[in-house]
Amino acid sequence: MSVVDFEELENIVEIPRNARLFLEKPEKEIKFHLHLVIDEETYICIDSYVVFHNTARGPAKGGIRVSPTVSLEETRILAELMTYKTALVKIPFGGGKSGICLNPKEYSPFVRSNIIKQFVRSIENQLISGAYIPAPDMGTSEREMAIIYGETGLVESVTGKPPRIGGLPGRREATGRGVSRIAKEAANRILNTELKGLRIAVQGFGNVGSWTCQFLSDWGARIVAVSDYSDGVYNESGLDIHSLRKHAESTGMVKGFDGNKITNEELLALDVDILIPAACEDVITEKNADNVRARMIIEGANAPTTKAAHAVLNEKGIPVIPDILANSGGVIASYVEWRRAKSGSITKSEETYRTVDDLITESFMDVKKMAEEKNTTYRNAALALALREVIESMRDRVWI
Ligand code: NAD
Repeated sequence: MSVVDFEELENIVEIPRNARLFLEKPEKEIKFHLHLVIDEETYICIDSYVVFHNTARGPAKGGIRVSPTVSLEETRILAELMTYKTALVKIPFGGGKSGICLNPKEYSPFVRSNIIKQFVRSIENQLISGAYIPAPDMGTSEREMAIIYGETGLVESVTGKPPRIGGLPGRREATGRGVSRIAKEAANRILNTELKGLRIAVQGFGNVGSWTCQFLSDWGARIVAVSDYSDGVYNESGLDIHSLRKHAESTGMVKGFDGNKITNEELLALDVDILIPAACEDVITEKNADNVRARMIIEGANAPTTKAAHAVLNEKGIPVIPDILANSGGVIASYVEWRRAKSGSITKSEETYRTVDDLITESFMDVKKMAEEKNTTYRNAALALALREVIESMRDRVWI
């Protein structure tokens, strides 16, 4: 199933039939198994996937997700989102993604390193040729990217590396930076108010959620609630994000931090100015969308809102800033890291922030204009702009 509703978008943008045929199915899918002998009695076989959705605009770019539930279908959807995300912010990458079906928490760092090394060996040609450029996603971090760099020996073959070994200062916090920047722009231009003092709830306190909370709190917003897999905390006066990050780093969870206890479902239904789902997909569904009382939703995670939930929110008049725009800061920074690796230049975190801020703000303005002109949702406007960019690139390549 495609993330794009072609029938609906045809009312906004011209979609030639052959372009649709190209985009409805991924260009390439690689399915393989990683085999690992852990000790004399334990042997594991791990389902793994790499999907290239569309590479008209450049090499397939997308993170590696390590999760016990990841499937080929989930990897496909995430790769497709990358095609439209990179096109919307106009960086020269196509859409790709990898999935490794494993619970990383069940294995030691040594075993996890061996799994990543096997993964690299299985798709070596794609990595060495630069056809696929991975990055971190759920269940992977700078550590795994460093291992990939070690195996390929090519600094530009992977992004999201530690800054000392070719990584980009500012990449770690770039997705949260972009989400925060979008929140600021959307507060000003959609809610017609200043960000300062706005009440915000964030689901997920990993890479995206924690940095989003940190930037927004530094800019004067009040983060009243945060949750993760362990449920959450609520404080009407605003949570001390710096201390919460320290707490989460040492305990691995939000639970136990000073404040009132709150469940994930309660957080999603809070009466706040902005709700930011930044954990995982399908958390706002047709079952709970009607309970949402936020004035606006900003999708920090990929696909946190189902199609049916979008319809309910639209009916309620709650604007949703879509994932392909809101969380594009990470891939923008990845592009800076990749470009720098190719040129050998030095970049400071301020430059990373500036590039994320500039590209994401430009795209936000384009999306807002399109939504107003076509009287459609921000999600449809963002997808239509991205589709147009991909279709034109396929024409440039004489694919269609
Ligand atoms: P992460 O693994 O660092 O953090 C995920 C957080 O969500 C953790 O706090 C976890 O406890 C929480 N969580 C997981 N499942 C949950 C559930 N069912 N209910 C409540 N909380 C839950 O992951 P991340 O890198 O922060 O990614 C979060 C989302 O953002 C994913 O959808 C990912 O694809 C997307 N994303 C990440 C980046 C990036 O640069 N890391 C870029 C773009 C999009």
